[in-house]
Amino acid sequence: MQPLFGVYGASGCGRGVMPLARMQLQKLGISADSLVFIDDNPEAVNVNGHPILSYRSFLERKATERYAVLAIANSKVREQLASRCANDGVRPWTIAASNVVTMDDVNLGAGAILSPFVTLTSNIHIGQHFHANLYSYVEHDCVIGDYVTFAPGVKCNGNVVIEDHAYIGAGAVIRQGRPGRPLVIGCGAVIGMGAVVTRDVPPGVTVAGNPAKPLVRG
Ligand code: UDP
Repeated sequence: MQPLFGVYGASGCGRGVMPLARMQLQKLGISADSLVFIDDNPEAVNVNGHPILSYRSFLERKATERYAVLAIANSKVREQLASRCANDGVRPWTIAASNVVTMDDVNLGAGAILSPFVTLTSNIHIGQHFHANLYSYVEHDCVIGDYVTFAPGVKCNGNVVIEDHAYIGAGAVIRQGRPGRPLVIGCGAVIGMGAVVTRDVPPGVTVAGNPAKPLVRG
């Protein structure tokens, strides 16, 4: 018997993560037969050469241990699935592209996805189930909470705090804070794509533009 590895979510995010997962296992000499998609609403039985299992089938398949990476952009769904997996003894699995650059004293929580060309510089703390999409970076002295999502090309400069469940849209730039006075993006805040964030963003608020301002819903 062998361990079983799952990419949870067989849609856009999952299909981007699967090749990285495959390469990671290949380096460890583990066969791709041990690698499947997990999806609760599968639209097919197979995608890009990998079977899609229901969560139940994933649990029922004989294996020494089970690992899953939660490849779903919606952070609240990730949190629910993380709790489900923990209850069933499915371990969080971190996936990192082979060209990710990680510098000194980076404390990365379980279950992260680090896409190609991601850089994490020095003295950074990151919580669980972080998604750093293509070409995004986190600069020095940042503190990032749980279930934070970076779309492609996010530039998070130094001394920034990002609280749990914040979503940072593609190409957003976050101005650096100062030692002892970080720029803070609050819990569940949403930063629109291309935004230039120059000041704190309160919890739950959506901002967009340059400089980023709260969206007024009409
Ligand atoms: N999904 C799931 N369980 C859940 C919620 C979502 O298996 O509790 C699956 C869903 O069926 C879909 C994928 O996760 O296949 C999410 O895909 P979507 O296109 O919404 O988002 P993305 O891939 O961009 O995260």
